[in-house]
Amino acid sequence: MGYALVQEPFVPPQPVAARKQEATDNSAEASGITLAGGLLGWSPLLSVLLCRKQPKAVGHKGQGWKRDPPVIRVETLLERREAHKFLKVEFPGAGPEHKCDLRDQDGTPTPWDTSWDWAGFEAEDRPEAVVVQLYEAHGSTVTAWLQTSLAIKEQLWLARSIETSPLCREFEMSNPAGSKAVITYNQGVRGGRTIELKATVDEAVKSCPSIKHVFVAQRTDNKVQMGDRDIPLEEEMAKADSVCTPESMDSEDMLFMLYTSGSTGKPKGIIHTQAGYLLYAAVTHKYVFDYQQGDVFGCVADIGWITGHSYVVYGPLCNGATSVLFESTPVYPDPGRYWEVVQRLKINQFYGAPTAIRLLLNYGEEWVKRYDRSSLKVLGSVGEPINKEAWQWFYQVVGEGRCALVDTWWQTETGGICIAPRPSEEKAEIVPAMAMRPFFGIVPVLMDENGEVIEGNDVSGALCIAQPWPGMARTIHGDHQRFIDAYFKAYPGYYFTGDGAYRSQKGYYQITGRMDDIINISGHRLGTAEIEDAMADHPEVPETAVVGYPHKIKGEGAFAFIVLKEQTACVDHIKEELKTIVASKIAKYAVPDHILVVKRLPKTRSGKIMRRLLRKVVTEQSGNMGDVTTLDDPSVVKEILDAYQKYKEKSSS
Ligand code: AMP
Repeated sequence: MGYALVQEPFVPPQPVAARKQEATDNSAEASGITLAGGLLGWSPLLSVLLCRKQPKAVGHKGQGWKRDPPVIRVETLLERREAHKFLKVEFPGAGPEHKCDLRDQDGTPTPWDTSWDWAGFEAEDRPEAVVVQLYEAHGSTVTAWLQTSLAIKEQLWLARSIETSPLCREFEMSNPAGSKAVITYNQGVRGGRTIELKATVDEAVKSCPSIKHVFVAQRTDNKVQMGDRDIPLEEEMAKADSVCTPESMDSEDMLFMLYTSGSTGKPKGIIHTQAGYLLYAAVTHKYVFDYQQGDVFGCVADIGWITGHSYVVYGPLCNGATSVLFESTPVYPDPGRYWEVVQRLKINQFYGAPTAIRLLLNYGEEWVKRYDRSSLKVLGSVGEPINKEAWQWFYQVVGEGRCALVDTWWQTETGGICIAPRPSEEKAEIVPAMAMRPFFGIVPVLMDENGEVIEGNDVSGALCIAQPWPGMARTIHGDHQRFIDAYFKAYPGYYFTGDGAYRSQKGYYQITGRMDDIINISGHRLGTAEIEDAMADHPEVPETAVVGYPHKIKGEGAFAFIVLKEQTACVDHIKEELKTIVASKIAKYAVPDHILVVKRLPKTRSGKIMRRLLRKVVTEQSGNMGDVTTLDDPSVVKEILDAYQKYKEKSSS
């Protein structure tokens, strides 16, 4: 694939509304390259793809890209079991007049993906609408609900994550979006456990007055309590017409919003838009994984995470791919689960997280070797740095040394993979545990502390991207200035990723980790401030500081330092309460592995907690504390080191 890149200054995206206005003002020129290229500064090819008018206006042959949403036909469910679902979808490339006609396996149209008139929504185009996606197993058919496929512009909210507790948090946060309805399951099922999703939704909607309806789909046979606003989804859908007309979307209309961690306590609602994101998800899916028509693509990420969005749902859908929906955990019912699914579904590309690989390698090779993995062609890793041991095990044991293993670096904000060993020339080398090569159109640069671009190889610095790409996020929900500040302020003219990277002697990129107060626990990106904020709810704990430390399985774990209001004999009880608060306000994975009580925290004279000192303590580098002259009282360092030493002795005895 070759296309020329237009090197233009990197102007951060404007807020969505402003861009739309500009587009309307320019409507006379709205014939493709001029408008899209001018607006977005992208390459001519991408400009064509992103044009706001029909492609024939720019002389593009055939159907080309229509700015109307892809109409998605859910075709066949081959199997339905508790731990996985299999989905085949097609992308017929339909125009605006196309009718979306969904058929069940026996050919009967199902109303599952049709008009939402039955829900009584007004079809108004609100950019802050929060509509995500839901997989629903209906009889023997799996339906993927997506805003793009259904043209739902109403405010729906989706109980998307099987992990229940973050739901409340996200409800609270998304309330300003004015969501009117929630879709949930009666209960969730994960790793053999039943999760009371509906009960969690009940709790969450109490603080969301805008929610008028809760649609409850049946995931298990168990009955759950139904109240006035609750509607059984299956019954309601049975009344709906099985044919609906897709709605046209502007290329810059919002596609979805996804929360991710910020370095302050407040998570960021990252907004992706229609055409650029879909294009980028599609091309990266195709080229990084060498997806060929007929392949079975197995991304085992949670669909509530950006990886699930881009590589379980949108990328595969746009490419008419067969995509596996994996609902279980890597060790349920046993540690051979992934490989049993690979054998049974004949998966060709397997994409997962290093944390799962590190977990599985502890169980030994027999669990892998028990199953036939000859269908595998490409293996992928995502979410955090993969250490060499895990890489080798994945490559040698799982891939039998014959599958390309791609360590893919990207972020919620980038929409799709930005650095990965493939695509490349055929048989080009893959260096273990390195993301290596920028994807088409991605121009990575490394910056030094003075904000200067670092030239040459064998150098490290702050990883930035020098020009826009189609999949980049457009804004943070409700706070465009925060978007500019977070990504475009540190290095003017560049997108700052927040990660550090090393460029090897051969010019390959290796991600070295976050440069801010963000930690990555089992692939979950989390601001330490978020955990601190949650713990601040405890009345006996006035001050906390959380730092990350290396964890053998999870990659990183959270270590919390806390100050108590007064001396108390109930320290253990308070620690348990803190863990419960974090689990319910954020998620179980965010619960600190260690909580250490200290008399005070190390603070600068201006009152800022010096977390870097705490990081040195927990990573046992106290011999090299660096500059402590700005501390209000440097003797605090010894105090904390003593407390840490005692804690360690107590824990090991
Ligand atoms: P998220 O937006 O939740 O997917 O988290 C993105 C962050 O995860 C990045 O900024 C990196 O810190 C980390 N990350 C993702 N993929 C990789 C990778 N292949 N290697 C190293 N770090 C990664």
